[in-house]
Amino acid sequence: MFASNKGSPPHRGASRLRPCEIPMIASPERCIVCGSRPRALFRRGDLSVVRCPACGLEWLSPFPEEAAAGTMYGESYLRRWGIDGPEALARVRAMKESSYRSFLREIQRHRAGGRLLDVGCALGFLLGVAREEGFDPYGMDLNPSAIEIARREFGDRAQAGPLGPATFPGLRFDVITLIDVLEHAPDPGALLDLLRERLAPGGVIAAVLPNAASLTRRILGRRWPHYACEHLWYWSPANLRRFLQDRGWIVRALRTGIRKTYTARYLHAYSACLGGWLPPGLGILGNMRLRIPTGEMMAVVTPVSSPLAAGDSLGR
Ligand SMILES: [Zn+2]
Repeated sequence: MFASNKGSPPHRGASRLRPCEIPMIASPERCIVCGSRPRALFRRGDLSVVRCPACGLEWLSPFPEEAAAGTMYGESYLRRWGIDGPEALARVRAMKESSYRSFLREIQRHRAGGRLLDVGCALGFLLGVAREEGFDPYGMDLNPSAIEIARREFGDRAQAGPLGPATFPGLRFDVITLIDVLEHAPDPGALLDLLRERLAPGGVIAAVLPNAASLTRRILGRRWPHYACEHLWYWSPANLRRFLQDRGWIVRALRTGIRKTYTARYLHAYSACLGGWLPPGLGILGNMRLRIPTGEMMAVVTPVSSPLAAGDSLGR
């Protein structure tokens, strides 16, 4: 459950048009923020989205089983990035590194360096940027195919999941990044609890995730690209803040209007398989890079109580 698509790749062809022809399992019957019973919001294909009438949290109901179990994050999931050779790999890498650099600069306002764990690191692109920015980077991902590639550059510092005691045993981290991860976790509170134990004293967790109150969501409605079978949860800034605070986190920053870097070619492919909501001529611009708002937000949090007491024996 802790794999990342690292930036909503273009989903191609029939798999996108019929996104969820996979078994379903029950999702929570009550809102995980406030406990209210949800109401149906809309259906799209096999996706059914519900919304809490009290706090506005949205989630898939039921959950696609493979997304909830984390078993969908294999080689085929990686292919959705459109990486079909070294040239495409370099292109996608440059594009994603640009976004990650801006995220890390934001994180540096809270922790300027130290040991960093990227949960859902995919091919390890963020690790490379983190190293350039002065962090000591580690990464894990549920996707063994992705980790195989990441290990070529980062060796043992890239590890296949799931996240647990065997993930870099004995190490604690000054920064843990969850870029496009929290919305994939069937139990996001439990994931944060697990990570809390791995934070060094004064450490922060930085999460980038879809913002269901964003302008892009309001404009695109149910065609919002973040509505996808692997995204189980859709928070707004308000209910995310409440969720985090209720679970013992101090929200040090909650920034909306996150921008990511895309090539025009990538956006064109993305748009085409979602029904063409961007201008059809966009692909002509090829590898021109555009920084666009993606309807996402970034939260930087730190635990209310320092993990120092529980972790003296852990490697720092
Ligand atoms: Zn609620």
